[in-house]
Amino acid sequence: MFTVGLTGGIGSGKSTVADLFAELGVPVVDTDVIARQLTSPGGEALGAIRAAFGESVMQAGDTLDRAVLRRRVFADPAARRQLEAILHPRIRKIVEQTLATLNAAYALVVIPLLVETGAYRDALDRVLVIDCPEELQIARVMTRSGLAADEVKAILAAQAGRAARLAAADDVIVNTATPSELNAAIAALHLRYLALAAACSS
Ligand code: ATP
Repeated sequence: MFTVGLTGGIGSGKSTVADLFAELGVPVVDTDVIARQLTSPGGEALGAIRAAFGESVMQAGDTLDRAVLRRRVFADPAARRQLEAILHPRIRKIVEQTLATLNAAYALVVIPLLVETGAYRDALDRVLVIDCPEELQIARVMTRSGLAADEVKAILAAQAGRAARLAAADDVIVNTATPSELNAAIAALHLRYLALAAACSS
């Protein structure tokens, strides 16, 4: 199936844009949701994470202590690669299984760290980047999460910058837009993707 990868920095508007594509009937597969399922109690990746990182990342009830694990991988690139090596193949398998069940012209796969990790890039026909000035990302994340500006800036500093993300883009939505401008941009991209998907399958 023709597959569009959607990415962008924290608070750039990935979910907002994905929801608008979904309203047009486009199937959306969100790798963040899959990662959360894989690491929930009983999740398929939990055993491997426990084996790799030990009991210190677990809490009562077979539950992952996400804050402890986040701090570990934030501070240690080798630990981050280890976690990615556990999660990425499993996420990829689920994305592929899900795409195989869909009956649609094209699908959108939300991959927040597409540029940082390169994960799943080879399986995508198109990369759509949600671009947003950093001040706006910081303000939106602060409003939504209650994090302090410094905390949001630390997350931004650990992610790819706008230039690197834009260099990887086939298409860009600049999300400084009003809701009606955003809707118009998405409607235009939807038509383009339908045409590209049709050209691919003919
Ligand atoms: P995360 O990386 O944290 O998952 P995200 O990239 O999915 O975030 P959203 O959750 O879609 O980003 O948007 C972040 C916040 O900004 C939300 O509260 C959303 O309602 C708001 N927002 C997104 N786009 C716009 C816009 N064009 N105008 C005003 N507010 C917006």
